[in-house]
Amino acid sequence: MPRLGVIGWPVEHSRSPAMFAAAFAASPGMEGWTYQRLPIAPDLFEQTARALPASGFLGANVTIPHKQVALALADSASTAAQAIGAANTLSFHPAGAIAAENTDAPGLLKAIGAPVAGRRAVVLGAGGSARAAVWSLLNAGAADVAVWNRTPDRAEALARALGARAVAAPLPADLLVNCTSVGLGHVPNGDEALNQLSLSADQVGSYACVVDLVYREGSTPLLAAAGAAGARIVDGLEVLVAQGALSFELWTGRPAPIEAMRTGAGIAG
Ligand code: NAP
Repeated sequence: MPRLGVIGWPVEHSRSPAMFAAAFAASPGMEGWTYQRLPIAPDLFEQTARALPASGFLGANVTIPHKQVALALADSASTAAQAIGAANTLSFHPAGAIAAENTDAPGLLKAIGAPVAGRRAVVLGAGGSARAAVWSLLNAGAADVAVWNRTPDRAEALARALGARAVAAPLPADLLVNCTSVGLGHVPNGDEALNQLSLSADQVGSYACVVDLVYREGSTPLLAAAGAAGARIVDGLEVLVAQGALSFELWTGRPAPIEAMRTGAGIAG
């Protein structure tokens, strides 16, 4: 039976297995399909990814911190994944070739659910998901995309590569997208989380819309502060479902059962 999974380090937090289990259950003829967590440390990523097809895997999602290495490992990649410089979806072909795609980029825009053309955005982070966010926002016509990262050199390199601009602190803008892992694992209190992101509580309320790619039970400290300050908030679970639905369609050639995936991911209502 076909196997799928998500490779990450850490990956215990991932709701993708529950989301995909719900998708298989809602799709006639997919009994026996499986999707599992694959906790793989960086030094074992390449050899493990290459061994998966022989174990019955059709593909794998890739999460923190492997997205850039996943692209480098692939034998072919979509134009978008190449331009972004990171991949979150690998497909294993029967002859052994690995193809890379990035569904984080369209997934983010889908989850935002409002036009970004002409808007100013700030992206926090400079890892694989930040690359997808910056590329997708610029590609969708954002007027300005500023990138802030804890390690400024990485923000500068990302901005140079993708045509954004690196900033020393998050600026006022219409949209704020957190692509750091702050709030994952150890939950800092609200002030501590905002400090780590170089933000103040007042400033968070100045963005019309705040997206946090991190998701957890309840709310993340960033979304709690943004919601309390009156911003429209987009939970990372919405991004998870949007990117996961595109991966599902790529692997299976079937329409994704979105409502089942939302329920499986734990989105209420
Ligand atoms: P990554 O490539 O490892 O990048 C991690 C980023 O977080 C880097 O910019 C890093 O900054 C920053 N960071 C880590 N700890 C920090 C701290 N204490 N203070 C400030 N910045 C910190 O990871 P990724 O793949 O881009 O993923 C980032 C997060 O997004 C993860 O939590 C992942 O689970 C989440 N994500 C969610 C979805 C979804 O569907 N909801 C999709 C993609 C990603 P430095 O460069 O300074 O180390």
